[in-house]
Amino acid sequence: MANFRGHVTTSGVLGVGYGVGATMLGGFTPMQGALAGCLTAVGGMLPDLDLENSTPSRELFALTAAVAPLVLMPRLMHWGGGYEGAMFLAVVIYLVVRYLGATIVGKLTVHRGMFHSIPALFIVAELVFLGYRSDQASTRFLMAGAVAVGFLSHLILDEIFSVQFTGIRFKLAKSAGSALKFMGSNVFANLFSYALLCALTYGVLIEGGWMRSPVADEGRGLFQQVQRAAESLRR
Ligand SMILES: [Zn+2]
Repeated sequence: MANFRGHVTTSGVLGVGYGVGATMLGGFTPMQGALAGCLTAVGGMLPDLDLENSTPSRELFALTAAVAPLVLMPRLMHWGGGYEGAMFLAVVIYLVVRYLGATIVGKLTVHRGMFHSIPALFIVAELVFLGYRSDQASTRFLMAGAVAVGFLSHLILDEIFSVQFTGIRFKLAKSAGSALKFMGSNVFANLFSYALLCALTYGVLIEGGWMRSPVADEGRGLFQQVQRAAESLRR
């Protein structure tokens, strides 16, 4: 397998190219290009989250543990009944996410399991598409594509480095074919991945306007009814 530095260097270089390309050729703003480039770099680290005690996994959990209490601070002040209570809760959250979170994910996942697969690539890209708020579908595609490019570079690198050069001929290592795959060996992990992929794809089709949501239509109908009622009241 390629090491962490190899992954970060490759996806970082790709990110610069992706960001510059989006700005110069795609007509996106420099800030959008810069953000997309960062997503490509992060995408190149994501598959190794399944590696317990790996550098990307440690980095990501440390970042989440530090940022989560900051985001939650107004609530912590309320729950803790003041500054000291809030600080205590912030420390507890930090410790739980930082140490327990990484351990739980490490225990639940197998390295080179479904985190290293084509469906995982689409799951991550669709999560970015759904999570990124923008009126322009093209901007959401740019961000989803950015993380997908980084993720794909990781899978390809892992696959390339599973080919070992023995001096006379290339020999496939045991890990060959374990990164660019559609299925893993664990049936439940496969089922879960494809169920999640289907649900997210459904969400993307509705969000992108390619499919009509029955719930949204009902909501719109209800909203119009309320609007009409309000108008009739005003008259
Ligand atoms: Zn990997």
